[in-house]
Amino acid sequence: MNFIETRGNDGSRPYNVSFSQAILSPIASFGGLYVPLKLPDLGEVFLQKHVNSSYKEMAMDMLLCFGIDIDKDVLYEALDLYDNFDDSSNPVPVVKVKENLFVSELYHGPTRAFKDMALQPFGVVLSSIAQKRNQNYLILAATSGDTGPAALETFKNRANVQVACLYPDGGTSDVQRLQMVTEDASNLKVIGIKGDFDDAQNALKSLLDSDTFKAKLKEDHISLSAANSVNFGRIIFQIIYHIHSYLELVRQGEVSIGEKVYLNVPSGNFGNALGGYYAMKMGLPVEKIIIASNENNVLTRFINEGKYDLRKSSVISTTSPAMDILKSSNVERILFDMFGARRTKELMSNLQENNSYVLSSDELYTIQSVFSADFCNGEEGKAYIKEAFESGYLMDPHTATCFKANETCATKNIKTIAYSTAEWTKFSPTIANALTGEVDAQDIDALKSISKEAKLAIPDMITALFTKEICQDSIINKEDIEKEILSFV
Ligand SMILES: *Cc1c(COP(=O)(O)O)cnc(C)c1O
Repeated sequence: MNFIETRGNDGSRPYNVSFSQAILSPIASFGGLYVPLKLPDLGEVFLQKHVNSSYKEMAMDMLLCFGIDIDKDVLYEALDLYDNFDDSSNPVPVVKVKENLFVSELYHGPTRAFKDMALQPFGVVLSSIAQKRNQNYLILAATSGDTGPAALETFKNRANVQVACLYPDGGTSDVQRLQMVTEDASNLKVIGIKGDFDDAQNALKSLLDSDTFKAKLKEDHISLSAANSVNFGRIIFQIIYHIHSYLELVRQGEVSIGEKVYLNVPSGNFGNALGGYYAMKMGLPVEKIIIASNENNVLTRFINEGKYDLRKSSVISTTSPAMDILKSSNVERILFDMFGARRTKELMSNLQENNSYVLSSDELYTIQSVFSADFCNGEEGKAYIKEAFESGYLMDPHTATCFKANETCATKNIKTIAYSTAEWTKFSPTIANALTGEVDAQDIDALKSISKEAKLAIPDMITALFTKEICQDSIINKEDIEKEILSFV
């Protein structure tokens, strides 16, 4: 399977590249992204075949259908990391919360958020490609809070890889920040930026594009790559859990194969939703993909009105910070899939130049045949958290956005799989506030009060963070990022 470019080819790059190449250099011609030339068609046969498979068995079969240029033993090693999740026999439990609503819990990995789903195996794959080519890589990651810890965790002490991770100072929760700044492996560098997530992501994109930066790294025999959700090496692992979650409903006797469901995804950079879209194209019976947002509701307006418009928007800090994103990078892959490279290039350059683009009414119709969307504000989110808790389910504020979107968008009497992207421990002050009304609690106090309220123990790895030594203390202006990274490598 080869990969092609969302904005067409500029004549200086190959027309198509291997999976490993798309992983190592994720930015394509004209600033575009790599996408599979053709998705495998799995159909219902694949679902039938895997009703009784383990997560790893099904995942392996799906990866093999992609025909990627990664050795099978590396893929086995990568998938084995799911054994370290809470329940090694089922890394992604799917829980019934109420009539027609099921929550697929993607947060049972080492950093307690869904980024582990893709980044855990991705670390093994990338490090193995680097070793095989006898090259050293600097991985850049920009994080709004969850990617950073997950990227650091997966690359910690891995051969031939260094990581520089940018996060917006003050834009993450205490737990997320501590998960990063207490990482002490010598191949990891964590950098706080005075700015928001989009600043961090823009800085990352411009470094990835900078020939002078790359030339300086080359002097030290280092090549550059990125671990953000634009990397197809992450996306491929995000198709798997959508198929798994559907199969879980089959196993639970809730749907029979072929019956359609809604997928309901709390969205930021659209990697999770894109995984669902690809799963659907590969044959998963999906009625619609429901896109949930917070007050940064660019995606809601895009899907409902066909206008991607940032002209009057600036990032709003919300209680679901992992979704505080305006430029949702993976939407580009949907545009490409639906409208082709020429149109994608046109739309993306409109976005770059005018901060907006508008779909034609036919294009909007095509988007709406797959997606519906709504957004949920912080107060509504807290009310959903409290309501769910009272009926026995504890969830985080990102997951809560799905509950609102489900009420407004799941109009048919069929089942919804909503995705839970973080454990309660990662966003505890908001949850404590929703449950008990207490305000301005520090994470540690909020964790204790939720623990008491819900009669749940705080996981050891979370408690330990508060006493661990802080070994990453850079907080800098965004102008100084390049210098800071060069002095690290
Ligand atoms: C990253 C993240 C999201 C957004 O996922 P995307 O794939 O970027 O759309 C939602 N919730 C949490 C907790 C996250 O960490």
